[in-house]
Amino acid sequence: MKNVKHLECINCGKTYPAEPGVYTCPDCGPEGILDVIYDYDYIKSRVSKESFKENREYTIWRYTDFLPIKPDSARPRLRVGWTPLYDTAVLAEAIGLDKLYMKDDGQNPTASLKDRASAIAVVKAMEEGAKLIACSSTGNAASSLAGNAASVGMRTCIFVPQRAPQGKIAQLQIFGATVISVQGDYREAFQLSAEAIKKYGWYNRNAAINPYLAEGKKTVSLEICEQLDWQVPDWVVFSVGDGCTIGGAYKGFLDLYNVGFIDRLPKFLGVQASGCDPLTRAFISGGKMEPTAENTLADSIAVGVPRNPEKALRAVRKTGGVYINVSDDEILAAMRLLGNTSGIFGEPAGVAGLAGLKKAVAEGIIKRNETVVCAVTGNGLKDVNNAIKAAGEPMKVNPNLDELVSALEQRPGFFDYLNQ
Ligand SMILES: *Cc1c(COP(=O)(O)O)cnc(C)c1O
Ligand SMILES: [Zn+2]
Repeated sequence: MKNVKHLECINCGKTYPAEPGVYTCPDCGPEGILDVIYDYDYIKSRVSKESFKENREYTIWRYTDFLPIKPDSARPRLRVGWTPLYDTAVLAEAIGLDKLYMKDDGQNPTASLKDRASAIAVVKAMEEGAKLIACSSTGNAASSLAGNAASVGMRTCIFVPQRAPQGKIAQLQIFGATVISVQGDYREAFQLSAEAIKKYGWYNRNAAINPYLAEGKKTVSLEICEQLDWQVPDWVVFSVGDGCTIGGAYKGFLDLYNVGFIDRLPKFLGVQASGCDPLTRAFISGGKMEPTAENTLADSIAVGVPRNPEKALRAVRKTGGVYINVSDDEILAAMRLLGNTSGIFGEPAGVAGLAGLKKAVAEGIIKRNETVVCAVTGNGLKDVNNAIKAAGEPMKVNPNLDELVSALEQRPGFFDYLNQ
């Protein structure tokens, strides 16, 4: 990997060679998360804004020069990345912005942003000759790992908490993973997976621990900038659980800044659920992250002990951004709003960012004339129970026109379209 210099501990600053088996800083333990440090001069010698115009690879692999993988390594066969960035006029107006883009990462192959990280995990596991990849996950990291691994015939062993929704479990079963439903919360699932990984020596896809995964997630930012013709939005918005997504997204902008493709970073809005907000609390107090309960229906961000608090806080603090909380009701309302005004279907954690954005605009934190990109991190079909909770049941009528007419006449607002 000529583009990678080394791995650097975000806690003590010690550096380590980017070699197999190195996960966290031995001196600092689990807090010693490693960051991949690049040789930006080398990257600059390989790519330019012009070279991207000629690049016909519309997946995350168009950014291989920015990724910590060997250029000729085998890759998963799924099409990950280059998801649409929608200019959403109706939604923008509804929440009081002039310009709002939605990045629909639910359109990745297993329907969440996690595919970006899992694709890298599978490449690294194959580079190291691993035979089985393990991970613990609230759901999407697991399903994306299982899918990407299945595409190259690699085995997976997955630890999920009891609360993981059926849609995600169904994906795991279909992708042939060995699924361990840990009868406990995410914290306990994570712990058990860590013990099993240690015992059996499996390849570890736990996002915070594995330094390469945030590098996959950063491709979302590379795409946002390229899709905006290298213009930087004023704000970017991400929902936050473990913190690897927002931390990775920050790294993406930093990379582009370091190679001179952009001349500033956007502000980051991190959004957490009110019932599970350790990072919002740490942001407000200015101190260290303290664990909280996991009380939210947005399962993908129900993370009481974030594994990547430093990277998650750094993204917001260094860019002059903000952390904000949203209630479950606000999340459900955002799910409805997004679907109604843009045709995008997000799962609860997938739309929590939008819920937080709406609030930040209402509170004057984000101004009408500021350009915003908000990520939809996962598809709503993964969790249909909460979608129905958000949007309600359909009208039931017998196959009879008179009954239909009277049902429609009783439905509030249905005939409003005649006056529009
Ligand atoms: C994982 C996930 C997040 C949050 O990512 P973290 O790295 O845990 O902060 C948000 N939304 C969805 C849909 C996710 O799957
Ligand atoms: Zn260290």
